Amino acid sequence: MKIGFIGLGNMGAPMASNLLAAGHQVTGFDLSSPALAAASKNNLTIANDIASAVAGQDAVITMLPDGKALRMVAAAIIPIMQKGTGLIDCSTVDVKSAQEVAKMLSTSSLLSLDAPVSGGVSGAVAGTLTFMVGGSDKSFALGEPLFEIMGNQTIHCGLDGAGQAAKICNNMILGVSMIATCEAIALADNLGLDRQKLFDVVSTSSGNCWSMSTYCPAPGVGPESPSDHGYKPGFSAGLMLKDLRLSQQAAKQTGTATKTGKLACDIYTTFVDSNNGAAFDFSAILGQLTNVK
Ligand code: NAD
Repeated sequence: MKIGFIGLGNMGAPMASNLLAAGHQVTGFDLSSPALAAASKNNLTIANDIASAVAGQDAVITMLPDGKALRMVAAAIIPIMQKGTGLIDCSTVDVKSAQEVAKMLSTSSLLSLDAPVSGGVSGAVAGTLTFMVGGSDKSFALGEPLFEIMGNQTIHCGLDGAGQAAKICNNMILGVSMIATCEAIALADNLGLDRQKLFDVVSTSSGNCWSMSTYCPAPGVGPESPSDHGYKPGFSAGLMLKDLRLSQQAAKQTGTATKTGKLACDIYTTFVDSNNGAAFDFSAILGQLTNVK
């Protein structure tokens, strides 16, 4: 396929490289010169402007920071895209932006998918991302072969916006469960219980969760994770806060009571604001929670 790839940052560049390595013709574009320089080193063809990246392509993929950037890019490229082709947005954005962009696309006889990912930069490099996808069956058929290259798990969650809905629900659980895991470690410390023993019990008992058993926030405990490397992300606290804010925006719009989700959002806001926390892995919040006695 001929693919235009807009947004060649930490995630987009390796995803585009995997499509290229699988034999697709990929033309990339980004606003940032460092991102373009890094991408061209990986043999990606770089367009001089967004229109040249999009014209004549079978599909366009976007991997952008937020809903505002997505709306801007969509408005710029829709008039240029060939009828019958489609836009696959892999960014994490608010559900409303995803649905509005899908509507703009369908009005112009274009296919659309919201297809946010889980798995982080290492998953993007390894081609092992999980895609959660919203859109029609016809749109899904366009994206599925590409998801199989960039990832190893694809779930078609429903119609427009369903992928973003699944992503923010998942990450709200993740933020809450990471905090609960850290609080359990803080309580164990204060009770004189060894962290390794806590891990051994919880990871084989009913309190088990991914934050404890796979991504333990305590250094030296459990499988290797960012806590063993000075909390270098991984998945940054800044991105966790972004997703928790999206979950709270969606909760407000739908009138859903998500009290622990809101609390998690407040706790990560304090962490990011007061400790330069945005740059650290989201599991580094253990430091903030264990210092409170
Ligand atoms: P990033 O900031 O590294 O990359 C985003 C890129 O988009 C940047 O290079 C930026 O210059 C470019 N961009 C912004 N506006 C543009 C425009 N109008 N036209 C062209 N390019 C534009 O971010 P990232 O870490 O690659 O994340 C991308 C998306 O993936 C985000 O929505 C993020 O929430 C999501 N995500 C990231 C991770 C992760 O671990 N990094 C994991 C899952 C999901």
